[in-house]
Amino acid sequence: LSAASALVTELVGDSAGEWDRAGRIPVELVRRLGAEGLLCAEVPARFGGRGWSSLDNGAFTAHVGSLCSSLRSLMTSQGMAAWAVQRFGSAAQRAHHLARLTGGELVGIGFSEPGAGSDLSAMSTTIRVDGDTVVVDGAKVWLTGAGYADLLVVVGRFGDGAAAVVVPTDAAGVSISPVPDPLGCRAAGHSTVGLRDVRLPLDALLSGAGQPMSMLVTTALTYGRVSVAWGCVGILRACLTAATRHAATRTQSGKPLAGHQLVAGHLADLLVAEQVATRVCEHASRCWDDSSPEMVTAAVLAKHVSATNAARQASTAVQVLASAGAEDGHVVARAYRDAKLMEIIEGSNEICRLVLAEHALAVAS
Ligand code: FAD
Repeated sequence: LSAASALVTELVGDSAGEWDRAGRIPVELVRRLGAEGLLCAEVPARFGGRGWSSLDNGAFTAHVGSLCSSLRSLMTSQGMAAWAVQRFGSAAQRAHHLARLTGGELVGIGFSEPGAGSDLSAMSTTIRVDGDTVVVDGAKVWLTGAGYADLLVVVGRFGDGAAAVVVPTDAAGVSISPVPDPLGCRAAGHSTVGLRDVRLPLDALLSGAGQPMSMLVTTALTYGRVSVAWGCVGILRACLTAATRHAATRTQSGKPLAGHQLVAGHLADLLVAEQVATRVCEHASRCWDDSSPEMVTAAVLAKHVSATNAARQASTAVQVLASAGAEDGHVVARAYRDAKLMEIIEGSNEICRLVLAEHALAVAS
């Protein structure tokens, strides 16, 4: 874990702000991390992965998130796609695809559509079998990593149920166009993906086809929620570090900023937010590692707490740095934009609260 963290620290260096402004991470760097198995480090060793626990991968994800949320977003998508393959693929599909995903090939995963955001049951992309081919028709939006990907895991309707299919991005009928100027995570390759009569060999269809949409979506999103939550811990740590350093060294009205109690209060708020987020993420990862029945709720809780804490406290960090952090590309300015998006993805704040309320009601009854 420490060698992997050191490698990412070295590879990212001080480039995250520049990548954010350019809207692009050098693809060789992303592939290098992919080939080290670090974009989906929980894939078992028998499939070429690192076989890390969720707790270890969480610590690593937080580290990457503290350096560059765009790179962390690519990890989250690669991990979700790998998990979908591991969970729903046949033995042969797992062996084939997971070797690719831990060998340097890049993948994104598509659920959202123009008419299906929070309500994924409204998905209209279809997946159907036609003779010895599988045919995919539809459109996906905001697909993280599609701007870099060799493969996409596409989720769609399959008869009365749902299915996931592995689509090479160079297949005939696939079109990919970048989301122009995203608010945050600008180098994460978010794209709109068109799928027009895309015909693939039958084995592109993951073998769990036909199950209920809610089951497929929840399985993949639970992984994604834990990953995003740890990424938000990273954002909080980056903000805490930047704010405390600045408050300790900049002097106003004859003393360091940290000597003014209202500023010290901001630092306390940042620390509390980072610690609370860390604890709920650790809980979610332990639930994952123990296959606890609490896992789905723990993942929603972790994602919700971490994302809201990151969004609120990135704003606090900008407040502490004031003009020193108000430039595009500054770590806290980037955190402020990136963290806001974490309140939208993998279940928005509102959707998380609805799920948590349902859980509270179920426990009470
Ligand atoms: P809507 O569903 O239209 O919601 C708009 C607002 O209404 C939100 O505040 C929402 O919480 C609220 N709302 C909606 N329904 C309800 C309800 N029933 N009750 C209460 N409030 C409600 N998708 C992918 O498939 N793959 C990806 O890799 C991916 N990456 C993304 C990366 C980023 C940075 C972003 C911003 C989005 C990404 N998405 C991705 C899409 C993301 O999953 C959706 O944006 C998200 O599900 C919300 O859908 P929406 O944007 O259509 O908002």
